[in-house]
Amino acid sequence: MKIYNVAILGTGFGGLGMALRLRSEGETDFLVLEKAGNVGGTWRDNTYPGAACDVRSHLYWFSFTERPEWSKSYCDQPEILHNIERLVERSGLKPFIRFNTEVIDAQWDETELVWRIRTTGDETILARNFVAAWGQLNRPSFAGVEGRANFKGPLFHSARWQHDVDIAGKRIACIGNGPSAVQLIPELARKAEHLTVFQRSPNYLVPRLDRPYTDDEQRIFHAVPATRDANRQAIYADHESWYDAFIMGSSKAAEFTAMARAQLESQVADPVLREKLWPDYPIGCKRIVICDDFYPAIVRPNVTLETEPIAGVESNGIRTKDGRLHEFDVIIFSTGFETRSMLGVADIKGRGGKSLREAWTPVPEAYLGITVAGFPNFHMLYGPNTNLGHNSIILMMECQIEYVLKALRAAKEHDVQALDVKDSVMTEYNRQLQKEFEGTAWSGSCSSWYKHDGRISNNYSGNVEHYKARTGEFKLSDYELIRQAEAESA
Ligand code: NAP
Repeated sequence: MKIYNVAILGTGFGGLGMALRLRSEGETDFLVLEKAGNVGGTWRDNTYPGAACDVRSHLYWFSFTERPEWSKSYCDQPEILHNIERLVERSGLKPFIRFNTEVIDAQWDETELVWRIRTTGDETILARNFVAAWGQLNRPSFAGVEGRANFKGPLFHSARWQHDVDIAGKRIACIGNGPSAVQLIPELARKAEHLTVFQRSPNYLVPRLDRPYTDDEQRIFHAVPATRDANRQAIYADHESWYDAFIMGSSKAAEFTAMARAQLESQVADPVLREKLWPDYPIGCKRIVICDDFYPAIVRPNVTLETEPIAGVESNGIRTKDGRLHEFDVIIFSTGFETRSMLGVADIKGRGGKSLREAWTPVPEAYLGITVAGFPNFHMLYGPNTNLGHNSIILMMECQIEYVLKALRAAKEHDVQALDVKDSVMTEYNRQLQKEFEGTAWSGSCSSWYKHDGRISNNYSGNVEHYKARTGEFKLSDYELIRQAEAESA
């Protein structure tokens, strides 16, 4: 039976980046498994009105491929998805992708030293290396709000937008006011007869100042691609400097707090509403939202900000805990994603049948966010503790991709069939990482999807340069080396 050198799960930025870099290294013995019928990951799934990226366009792309000619400073979802699809077409990656193929589970075979990956097509794929790029934010969460099935009108999640539902002239509820919701709410407010936003806790919002590139700028970017690179570098340096805003008590944190307060005061005149919209936790504890049209939407006469907690959904609307029934035609949940397990639906079983789901209970952890002790040749992109609040996640994925390539090279050079990170190395790494969080905003007094059971499990502790340095060297001594002959005689 065919054994691939590498099987990749997912065709978001992570999976595609891995495949492209494998190809450019001359590797063709790989395949990419994609549960859907198209590429794009989060940019395929999130099609809600207003969906866009809050990282500036020129930075929001791979460094190792030709860069798109973006139409505006912050790119919208359709343009991002279009550019991803174009990249896949132009790079000739499509034949490597198996669409509509969902991974059910994967088991490490300790004798053959391969991953046995089972798919929904009842097929088993064998691969020496397994790269999981399922992302952290792909399974919508309804936040445990009860009674959803009772509602007689359309009810859906922002990450599964129902385009056939006409929202014009309707009474709409939007539950949530996170980074997705703030992009959606101005669009809803423009079309709804009335919009009610259910806010559990407010966010810090700093200005976005998005604008289309002028014809002159477009011409220059096109004629002199180096100007796009220079722009990218400048944005990168600017974003890296934002990291300090996540250090509690820093001058950057004060600067960002003042910026957020100034935006609130200039856009919301009503002092009572203002205070409802002002957070009581340190800036950065939840994602700082980059948005300048949320407050103008909230102050519209056809919009209500509801801060009374939700008791549940009923046939005609939403009942709040104070007993009031709020009647709606359409209910939209923008309540985030299932991030606790960090696993997709697939379970992964390593040495001795050890389950990743169990290993990650109560909290997921990995070495460098990339690999887990007891799971040889298993690599993750955007794994535990690799999320950022201040810069583009694509840059972190690039570090991970380069690290995986180094691991593959090291195994080849040393004639080992499998590498398993030492438990002691992984434990020490995580001890150090948690120590580095002391004094950061993520350790502050808020609840967010960045942490579980009080432990910060999703975010990285430093900036991109810090992670780049940490992942820049592949230390073979961090790993147990597993050879075929030894595995067979064991
Ligand atoms: P999220 O940050 O998890 O926000 C979920 C929202 O739902 C929060 O406002 C939360 O309130 C609220 N919520 C949950 N249960 C609720 C309840 N019972 N009643 C009222 N509100 C409730 O999810 P998201 O907005 O989809 O964003 C997730 C991540 O996606 C972001 O952090 C970001 O990394 C990414 N994202 C990025 C972009 C981009 O432009 N690059 C855009 C969108 C999203 P609490 O705050 O009180 O929990």
